[in-house]
This record gives sequence, C-alpha cells and structure tokens, in this order.
Amino acid sequence: MSDVRVRFCPSPTGNPHVGLIRTALFNWAFARHTGGTFVFRIEDTDSSRDSEESYEALLEALRWLGLDWDEGPEVGGDYGPYRQSERREDYSAMVRRLVESGHAYECYCTTEELEERREQAKAEGRPPGYDGHCRDLDDTARRAFIDQGRSFVVRFRMPDTDYTWEDLIRGEITFAAGQVPDFVLQRANGEPLYTLVNPVDDAAMRITHVLRGEDLLSSTPRQIALYEAMIEIGAFAGPVPRFGHLPYVMGEGNKKLSKRDPSSSLQYFRDEGFLPEGLLNYLALLGWSLGGDVEFFSKEQMAQAFTLERINPNPARFDPKKALAINGDWIRHLGNAELADRLVPYLVRDGVLEDPPTPAQVELVAAVVPLISERMETLGQASGMVGFLFTDDVSIDADDAAKIMGDQSAEVLAAALTALTAVEQWDTESIEGALRTSLIEELGLKPKVAFGPVRLAITGRRVSPPLFESMELLGRERSLARIAALEGA
Ligand code: GLU
Ligand code: ZN
Repeated sequence: MSDVRVRFCPSPTGNPHVGLIRTALFNWAFARHTGGTFVFRIEDTDSSRDSEESYEALLEALRWLGLDWDEGPEVGGDYGPYRQSERREDYSAMVRRLVESGHAYECYCTTEELEERREQAKAEGRPPGYDGHCRDLDDTARRAFIDQGRSFVVRFRMPDTDYTWEDLIRGEITFAAGQVPDFVLQRANGEPLYTLVNPVDDAAMRITHVLRGEDLLSSTPRQIALYEAMIEIGAFAGPVPRFGHLPYVMGEGNKKLSKRDPSSSLQYFRDEGFLPEGLLNYLALLGWSLGGDVEFFSKEQMAQAFTLERINPNPARFDPKKALAINGDWIRHLGNAELADRLVPYLVRDGVLEDPPTPAQVELVAAVVPLISERMETLGQASGMVGFLFTDDVSIDADDAAKIMGDQSAEVLAAALTALTAVEQWDTESIEGALRTSLIEELGLKPKVAFGPVRLAITGRRVSPPLFESMELLGRERSLARIAALEGA
C-alpha cells in the first residue's frame, strides 16, 4: 500500500447525482492506481437535511457501481467512526481549542444586523462578506450580549495573508489577502459546519489528496488556513493535503448540471437501465481520457491508467447521446447470457415477466436477447421491444396501424395465414420461406407491404425485433392466432 489516502465524503441529502458519482469514481481510480486507500466518509452533520434513507442510498449506490471502499461505513478502519454524526465530541473540542488560542471567536451579530451591514457594504462598493465586527470583543461586551439574550456562532479568524496552492488539476491558485471573510465554524445551536468538520476529519484521517468538484474551490483557502491553525496549536501534525478541483459538468444549454434536476440523479440512470459499467465509463470521460481515441474502457482499465495530469480543467459537457451510445456498447460487450440476467429485473419491473419469472419466461428472455442486443442502448428499452412475446393480449399500436394497414392488408394477412398453416417445421427459415413464396413471389408485393401487416399482427408495432425469428419464438399457434385476429379486425 502507498500512503496515498483519498476520500469520498458526501452529505446524505436527497438522491446521489451523477456529479457526485464522478467525484467518487475519480477518487476511487486514484486510490486504486496508486495502491492507496479510498476512504468513504458520511458528512451527516446537518440534522435538518440529512436522512437515513439517503445514507442507505449512498452505500447502495457505491455498491451497485462497484466502487469498493477500504475504510468507511460497514467496513470500518483505523480512523473511524466514518459518520460525522458520531464524531461530535471531536468537533466541539477543536472549536474550544481554536477559540482559546485566538484562531476563532464568538460572533453575536444577529441575522438582521448582518443583513443590514451587508446591504450597506454593497451600497458603498465594499465586499459584502462578514466585516469582522466581533473579532475583538472583550468580556464586558460579550457579557452584555449574553444579557441581551443573544446567542453566538463561532467564526474563524482569517489571517491577513494571501493563500496560494498548487492545484493538482488547475495549477497555481491564489486568493489574495482580505478576499476571504471570517467564516462560521459552529452554529448558534452548537452544530458544527462543513467548513470545520471536513478539514478536521481530513486531518484526523490523514487524507493526502482532496479531489473534489470545482464548486468547492472557494472553500480551499479557508480550509488551508484552518489546517495551519490546527498545526500551530498542535492539533494536527501536517502536512496539509494537496487539492485538486475537478471540472464543472455542464448540462443542457451550457448551464451547470443541476443537482436538483431529476434526470441528473443516479436513480434516473438506473431506472433507464444504464449498466454500472456504462455509466462509470461515461462519467470517466467527464474530464478525463484514457489516451488516444479510446472511449470504451472499464473502471479497472481506468484505474490502471489514471493520472491526475490527464484531467482536463475545462468544463466537461454532459452529452446524453454519448452516454447512451457508450451504454449500448457495454450492453453488447456483456454477452448474451449476462445481458439476459441483467434484463430480467427490468422486465419484471415493467410487468413483462411475472415476479418471480417462470423458468419458461427466463428461457424465452435468453432466446430473444440475441435478437435485440444490437438495437439496445439501455436495459429499460427491452420491455417495449419484447413485451409481445410474453403476453397473449398484444395491443396493436394505433399510430403504427394507421401507417401500415392499407387496401391490400387483409389480403396479405389471409395469404400469410394460409402459407404459414402449411409450414411443417416451425422455425425461422421455414417461416421466412413460406412468407416470401406466398407474399413476394406469388402476390408480387414489395417486402414492406408484405411483411408490415404481419409484423404489426405479431408484435403490435411497426418496428420490432427481426420478424421471422420472433415468430419462431412466439410459436405457431400464437402467431397464427394473432394474424387471424388482425385479419378479422
Ligand atoms: N460533503 C461535501 C460535499 O459533498 C464534501 C466536499 C469535499 O469534498 O470537501 O459537498
Ligand atoms: Zn459578529
């Protein structure tokens, strides 16, 4: 093992979204590439927003994706607990030490006062951040505030210096002195904030590299200042971790992919029938490349080749079409047997199969997979494609019927029925032979006119898996009954 230690540290609020998963993937790949440790930590310090359900969803998401963690919930490790809700004592102790050493102070300003001064600052063209009002309160002033019934937050005293770091992805970044106002570490109700707990735990857990989204860039100077304070008071041996900020992911209309957009949630991709392999492969491309023009690769291949130098700092564009195409490639890469296994839950979900499916249904899924794998981009598409095989009550799509059925259709169906009744061996070849002889050669029809109505009768649709193969799978009786039904309709 190398001493690289990275972490994935989501807050359990809402559904995990793909931006978050990309962060997890890049950290995982870096840990695996370097032989380091991938720490999974739950930042559940905001009791008003965190939920147990979302916590479970996070664990389940990483498991589904196959992003295994070396330390964290359910796995344990030397630096636990890995849920911040269980580390409260540490945070209060750290706040006390920071206040005692003068690195932090009590701020008694009310929301209204802060708001008023912010407005005033804006009006006067000054920066609107906290103005340091309570930096140097003496005991008398503090007691007076307490007597007024005020409560306090704890703020960190930002030193008046520039903060510069060599970002692992973006190169040198500097926040000039005075640019970052004193920030809150602990709420009035005693709850610690992200600004405190994240660096405190990164220090405690010996994190060496912080790879996270660019949206967190502005918290980095704050965190570096806090690390330096912790080092100064002997609460942290150092060194300060290195930081790398992953590029933004842009969605539709060149806007940042929104966490709130349901179609950027992991659940959406699972519901659609993305494979974990396909989704990870696509997410890897949001800022990273394997080299050459290779766009199809597994997470293991990614891990093997993963270097931070190949992360592109420019915003990445989320391209749903490309995501689908890559997923389609993965679907075909699985092989038929594996694909059939993965399809079953989706077919059950959509009511195509019984729950649990019968052995005959499972066998039929295996038989139809080779007919549809070429056309699939998601597992969720299969139900619409193969549903007709698993029901006796196929419904004819009205729009498709309007396009297909014409003057000759009744005659076509009657001829097809006669020809198929005479077929001795019910297999693809014989079915095709009988229909071609009867409809194309004898009636002189074009294939589209000839086979369109038959396809509609069998599948209910204008577009379907290959017709003759489908009829073989459906069986003679059901095929004939469907053609007869449409003929009589
Ligand atoms: N809980 C934070 C988030 O999910 C972690 C950010 C970080 O990596 O520092 O936004
Ligand atoms: Zn104040």
